[in-house]
Amino acid sequence: MLQQTTVAAVLPRYVSFLDRFPDIDSLARAKEESVLAEWSGLGYYARARHLSRAARQVVREHGGELPRDIAALRALPGFGEYTAAAVASLAWDVRAPAADANVTRVLSRVHAIPGTAGSRAHRQRVLVAATELLPLARPGDATAALMDLGQAICLPRRPLCPRCPLRAECAGLASGDPERYPRRPSKPPMGRATVAAGVVRREGRALLLRRAGRASLGGLWEFPSAQAETLPAAKEDLGLLLRSLGLMLDDATPPAPADHTIMRRRLEIAVFRALPAELPIAPVTGGGARWWTPSELDRAAVSTLTRKIGRAAGFLPVAQ
Ligand code: SF4
Repeated sequence: MLQQTTVAAVLPRYVSFLDRFPDIDSLARAKEESVLAEWSGLGYYARARHLSRAARQVVREHGGELPRDIAALRALPGFGEYTAAAVASLAWDVRAPAADANVTRVLSRVHAIPGTAGSRAHRQRVLVAATELLPLARPGDATAALMDLGQAICLPRRPLCPRCPLRAECAGLASGDPERYPRRPSKPPMGRATVAAGVVRREGRALLLRRAGRASLGGLWEFPSAQAETLPAAKEDLGLLLRSLGLMLDDATPPAPADHTIMRRRLEIAVFRALPAELPIAPVTGGGARWWTPSELDRAAVSTLTRKIGRAAGFLPVAQ
């Protein structure tokens, strides 16, 4: 959950996720849609799908217990080099170097490792430094301590060096400018797009479609919508989608505005009312369609973008 997501955003979800799926068995038995629903709002939904599949593989191939072996961990869906090392180290006390962004920052500064974070050469040097630092006894605690140090003391900007237990041996601090380690990769420029969404309501319910496929938002429910570079293009595509469902845009009502940022893309959203031209709606291939009440939608597998559209349309209550 913490990949690309802050502790503050994760905490409430983490607690409710563990309430719902307290062990690997319960996670493996759950439908993927239920797992996505518990993940709702956290973004990067591939993580939830991987977790669901990894749990099933652990039950099928490892008797329901996470393997201790790095190679077996890496064979699980969603387990890359870092995740496998972090789980082996933190859960099983295996002496495996796990360098997340926090650990990478600490070690880059302590050893004044030049280069850009994330580059192959820099990563290799960080992993060598991490391996050398791990003790034979309780290496998992050392990994956790390094992670905490990076999160709470060795901050990206203005590190709290006077409080740091490594200050006496920190080459970055000795250089007088620890913040230059590691060099940060340049971010791609922010992109822009327009989303036109159509909200059709009937007897207190709204129509949502289930996105097909395995892409980032696959399996989530969303209002009929279309994305394009301009509003007229998005609106035209939305009109075509609605017509295929037996619906039409209500042009008499001005759209409600909203905005959202996802993966360095700024989305301007126009939320239109849609009218049922003919009922029942036409069948939707590859995904599904369903009418939802606001309270059902509150517990459903939907993205933050969908919640914003629901609120802009007045279908969902405004967040407190
Ligand atoms: S002394 Fe400062 S720069 Fe060095 S590891 Fe500690 S907090 Fe980071």
